[in-house]
Amino acid sequence: MTPTLHLYNTLTRRKEAFAPIDPANVRMYVCGPTVYDRPHLGNARSVVVYDVLYRLLMRLYGKEHVTYVRNITDVDDKINAAAKANNEPISALTTRIEGWFHDDMAALNCELPNKEPHATAHIKQMIRIIEQLIDKKYAYVADGHVLFAVASYKDYGALSGRKLDELIAGARVEVESYKKHPGDFVLWKPAEPDDDPSSVFDSPWGKGRPGWHIECSAMSTTYLGEDFDIHGGGADLMFPHHENEIAQSRCALPGSHFARYWVHNGFLTVNGEKMSKSLGNFITVRDLLDKGVKGEVIRLALLTAKYNEPLDWNEKLVHDAKTTLDKFYRYLDTWDVEDEISPHVIKALMDDLNMPRALSIVLSIENASVVVSTLKFLGFLKSTPEEWFKGDGVDNEVENLINQRIAAKKAKNWAEADRIRKTLADQGIILEDRPDGTTDWRRA
Ligand code: AMP
Ligand code: ZN
Repeated sequence: MTPTLHLYNTLTRRKEAFAPIDPANVRMYVCGPTVYDRPHLGNARSVVVYDVLYRLLMRLYGKEHVTYVRNITDVDDKINAAAKANNEPISALTTRIEGWFHDDMAALNCELPNKEPHATAHIKQMIRIIEQLIDKKYAYVADGHVLFAVASYKDYGALSGRKLDELIAGARVEVESYKKHPGDFVLWKPAEPDDDPSSVFDSPWGKGRPGWHIECSAMSTTYLGEDFDIHGGGADLMFPHHENEIAQSRCALPGSHFARYWVHNGFLTVNGEKMSKSLGNFITVRDLLDKGVKGEVIRLALLTAKYNEPLDWNEKLVHDAKTTLDKFYRYLDTWDVEDEISPHVIKALMDDLNMPRALSIVLSIENASVVVSTLKFLGFLKSTPEEWFKGDGVDNEVENLINQRIAAKKAKNWAEADRIRKTLADQGIILEDRPDGTTDWRRA
């Protein structure tokens, strides 16, 4: 019997059996990047975790029956500040960072979501929700801002488990005098006189831009409907971001439940502290790739802890992940047949995405072709062994000898060509001459 997928739901604080609203269209929304800086390993952890969940959902329900939406936040105060600091137009910054985000996540073998909506392309939908909230008295206009009145929604705080009067303690909420309640949050804010025009939009409340939370409510419901299955993001987004998304979505769309299962990934930490831009303790994915750490090594390192527990980043994590993958790639040559994915690995993932257990099972599987199929399903083994081991130091030497051999063959110096072939064979390098005159190499 196939086990049922169980996910820890932050909303109910327990592991629940996952039952999609419509198995023919399983719908997941994940908060995507705010495109003002190159993604760091903490951001990457979030993307990699949901990539595994997406792969599992596709496996369980069929690729055509899963819709994964991850937004691009391309309007935000942090973007305005970064563009100003760089002295460049906002669109130049956001386009560049979005490209980098895609490059870096592709290097980690993350699948693209089915839809990646941009906040700036959904201002109309945001305005529509804000209008509904004002009409229904859940929101009010004050000092050029539109604010959501948290006291008007009785279940406010249900996701994060905070009570209204405790809300402010420890949370980063701005307390301005025009707010009726200090926890009230911005749905729309007025433009500043020196704002880049590309971050200024017309609205019934004057020129300005949307608050961050309303962006996700608008983009998720536009593509997934008022009720959908899974909403994901990092644990830092639980409050206020996700709490606010729930409040404004349910109030604007009465009778809707919004997302059913709230999944939160744990923090990637450095010496126990959350990796973040503001603490300055971050390492970007690009930093590591440039140092020659392979994308799959980073991916594996990020998946070694349970997704909803903290994971401390250190050199050993990278070293161990590389050793494991080197071992798999070394044997890859003998594994050319694709096989079934290990049911034990699927079973581990069905138990709230237990990747550490899944990985330890992979290491104990004896049938090599099952190992290959399972690792490919998990987003590994995208390279050939040749590509994998190239760049590991010895290859320059190998390439040099191959070039000398090609020169020897051109000069019809067959003895020399054979001598070089033998030298390399003694080092475990096998040459394959191709019809176009080039030579490929691989390890024996
Ligand atoms: P941001 O671009 O800062 O909004 O973050 C994008 C995603 O990365 C969000 O889902 C965050 O929760 C997540 N995130 C940011 N920092 C970390 C971290 N240190 N560990 C895990 N996830 C993180
Ligand atoms: Zn969001």
